[in-house]
Amino acid sequence: MATATLSIDLDALAANWRALDRLSGPEVQTAAVVKADGYGLGAGKVARALAWAGARRFFVAVAEEGAAVRQALGPGPQINVLSGHMAGDTEMLHDLDLTPMLNSLEQITRHLEALPGHPFGVQLDTGMNRLGVEPVEWQAVAPILIEAGPVMLMSHLACADEPDHPMNLSQLEAFHEMTDGSGLPRSFAATGGILLGPKYHFDLTRAGIGMYGGRPFEMAQRVVTLSLPVIQTREVLPGEVVGYSATWEPDAPSLIATVAAGYADGLLRSLSNNAVLWDGDTPCPLVGRVSMDLITVDVTHLREVPKTLDILGPHQTVDDLADAAGTIGYEILTSLGNRYTRRYQESRG
Ligand SMILES: *Cc1c(COP(=O)(O)O)cnc(C)c1O
Repeated sequence: MATATLSIDLDALAANWRALDRLSGPEVQTAAVVKADGYGLGAGKVARALAWAGARRFFVAVAEEGAAVRQALGPGPQINVLSGHMAGDTEMLHDLDLTPMLNSLEQITRHLEALPGHPFGVQLDTGMNRLGVEPVEWQAVAPILIEAGPVMLMSHLACADEPDHPMNLSQLEAFHEMTDGSGLPRSFAATGGILLGPKYHFDLTRAGIGMYGGRPFEMAQRVVTLSLPVIQTREVLPGEVVGYSATWEPDAPSLIATVAAGYADGLLRSLSNNAVLWDGDTPCPLVGRVSMDLITVDVTHLREVPKTLDILGPHQTVDDLADAAGTIGYEILTSLGNRYTRRYQESRG
């Protein structure tokens, strides 16, 4: 039987990174963010394709992810850990040459005591109030820390996907206040910040969602296709119902296809009665509730029952599906389940 297949176009991924790298300007390096297993697409494969395309610096969320990326890339590329130097990380940071972005006085102390001389960066909080050293703390420790030679000072924008949001400028101002005159490399922009323009770029940008084909990088090439096999079909008559809680009932005799993927595979339950799948160019509505392993789709209007239906593809991006589910493309990608057969397309041409 055909299995549900997630196709990942590594050439498109590399092309998206190159496009973001060009947008970042000639003086600016573009790092690749491969946290959460490469946004759900496989950190090792993704990182190797991006290294091949020219990426030399990578970001992960936690040290364990960094270990997987180091294993895939070998020595050389800089792998930065956004959660910093957490208790218990010391050996892994050291042995795999990972660079923590220190987020607090506690982490700074831990790092300088446990791994003196080991490279580190500092993450500054410019208003998002999530991760990073606060302005007052920074004032106190900056002179000593700058002496110790961090590889970069970085911060993160809270509202970069909304170009007119006042947070963007206020965070930019705070970042300048905290870092001007330090003489150190600086990093401020993720995908959204790259699109905000050069004054947000500093020395190093951190491309994430745009590489994977997601908003706000509207020019992105499509990276993922998700094709789901039809297991069986049945005719359903008016007065009959489909699926859990009997939420769908046809107006006329209908042909319903049962398709092999469900919320355990990342097809969020909020898509119930509220999404379409595609047979080539023809949309087919998802009807009834999303089950754990199955969905049901109205294929009455098709001339022939297809072997598979696409839920991500040329007619439906991760953002389109996210809109239907009431979420964002990031969540769709990172929810993609591990039951799919994964096919990586790559020419390295
Ligand atoms: C996730 C993340 C990124 C990448 O963000 P995108 O919006 O996916 O480009 C960059 N920097 C930090 C600190 C992050 O947490």
